[in-house]
Amino acid sequence: MKILTNFSLKKFNSFNINAIADNYVSVESLEDLTKALNLKEYKEKYILGGGSNLLITKDIKGLVIHININGIHQEVKSNNVTEVVAYAGENWHSLVLWCLKKGLGGIENLSLIPGSVGAAPIQNIGAYGVELKDVFISCDVINKETREIKTFDKKACEFGYRTSFFKKNNGYIIISIKLKLTHKEHNLNTSYKGIQEELSNLNIKQPTIYDISNAVINIRKEKLPDPKKIGNSGSFFKNPIVSKNKIEELKSNFKSIPFYTVDKNNYKIPAAWLIEKAGFKAKTYGDYGVHKDQALVLVNYKSARGSDILNLSISIQKAVKLIFNIDLEAEVNII
Ligand SMILES: Cc1cc2nc3c(=O)[nH]c(=O)nc-3n(C[C@H](O)[C@H](O)[C@H](O)COP(=O)(O)OP(=O)(O)OC[C@H]3O[C@@H](n4cnc5c(N)ncnc54)[C@H](O)[C@@H]3O)c2cc1C
Repeated sequence: MKILTNFSLKKFNSFNINAIADNYVSVESLEDLTKALNLKEYKEKYILGGGSNLLITKDIKGLVIHININGIHQEVKSNNVTEVVAYAGENWHSLVLWCLKKGLGGIENLSLIPGSVGAAPIQNIGAYGVELKDVFISCDVINKETREIKTFDKKACEFGYRTSFFKKNNGYIIISIKLKLTHKEHNLNTSYKGIQEELSNLNIKQPTIYDISNAVINIRKEKLPDPKKIGNSGSFFKNPIVSKNKIEELKSNFKSIPFYTVDKNNYKIPAAWLIEKAGFKAKTYGDYGVHKDQALVLVNYKSARGSDILNLSISIQKAVKLIFNIDLEAEVNII
């Protein structure tokens, strides 16, 4: 375990922001992680995974602990169910591919989501009709202060739309997660229109988990900018959820407003639509801006500072508030 000083995080965050960590350490075992947490000389300790849900707006004091604890194993429970344990440093998409290879279904809709396994519960990653919570059993965590290791079951994780107990309490580090996956194809989720269209383009009538994964990969590659080419963190904001009264008010003022029913009192509005209507889609300000096709994705074209992108996000929030009286909440973690 080697502590590096004045360490550039440019290659370790998908926005490609050139922030400097005073101190950086990569930990590859629980023992190393515990040692790093025990280093009293660093008051602040920041946990880094794949850096794909992060906007770094300043250089980081203290110690950045990069979680690189790897390993995946399975335990067959029945003819139909296998539990899979994956360690926090594994790449999420590699886990999806590992499961596909073993014929295990449940996370194929979450193909190609960037980042690490350890960060997946933080915002309960979700895409194309599936969320992590749908297959989640538990996770093992270490308390940053006491070093106590604990298991959190699904209930204790308090999963919600792009949120969890851990998003609100950063005192724990996720070491591993346990998922419940199935062998049979009958639980396939093809509810998302884009998946149905892609399967029909490929002339697939009885899809397998591989077909769903490929369909999702194709859609994502077409729709989302690749952070290796253009710095970004995926969706910058959450889609706001509003009450029945509010949606009625919005419908009368903005006839074409799109929305989805969450339950009988709550409605989700695509933040991308609000941002586009506020005039920000495709806006470029020197090195940064809003993506030309995806209004929800803020981008760093070259060498923007994190604070530039933060200020742009604040301008968007203010404009959306002014026009629609809706508060846009950042999905990305800002430091
Ligand atoms: C192009 C693109 C597309 C995306 N699409 C989606 C999508 O479809 N759905 C979706 O949900 N998300 C999406 N995201 C967001 C991102 O992929 C996920 O949030 C992912 O889980 C972040 O993982 P990470 O390892 O990169 O986390 P990081 O960015 O490294 O960290 C995110 C937060 O988690 C904390 N953290 C990291 N690891 C741990 C750990 N082991 N224990 C405790 N805390 C930890 C960090 O301190 C930070 O607060 C997308 C991002 C990009 C760039």
